[in-house]
Amino acid sequence: MSENGFSESFNVVTQDNPGEPEFTDQTINCIDCRSDFIWTSGEQQFFYDKNLKNPPKRCKPCKQAKNERIAAINAAQELGIKQRIEVTVACAKCGCNTTVPFYPSQGRPVYCRSCFLELNPSLLPPHE
Ligand SMILES: [Zn+2]
Ligand SMILES: [Zn+2]
Repeated sequence: MSENGFSESFNVVTQDNPGEPEFTDQTINCIDCRSDFIWTSGEQQFFYDKNLKNPPKRCKPCKQAKNERIAAINAAQELGIKQRIEVTVACAKCGCNTTVPFYPSQGRPVYCRSCFLELNPSLLPPHE
């Protein structure tokens, strides 16, 4: 009797869970390279299973690059070495790839050298 009741309620939980959302592929704009990437339903299921609330912000190459940067920074800090970091970002003005010696904070525009000088003409060396 009690065994029957147990397996019945167990079946209800595993086979017909109304709280399980349906996942469809989503397009997300990567905050690093600004290109769209697909967040697949399988990955969403993975996030759901892991109880991760926030969708990914970066495409896979950028996420990996970011992890490598963080790992390199952490390793350097552990060793007490002040490492020169070089972060590849897309210029907020012309969109070209440029490297900056700091990790840009989210939402703050980063410019390539020529655009930066264009916006800060006082830093330009005087013409000869
Ligand atoms: Zn990206
Ligand atoms: Zn630029």
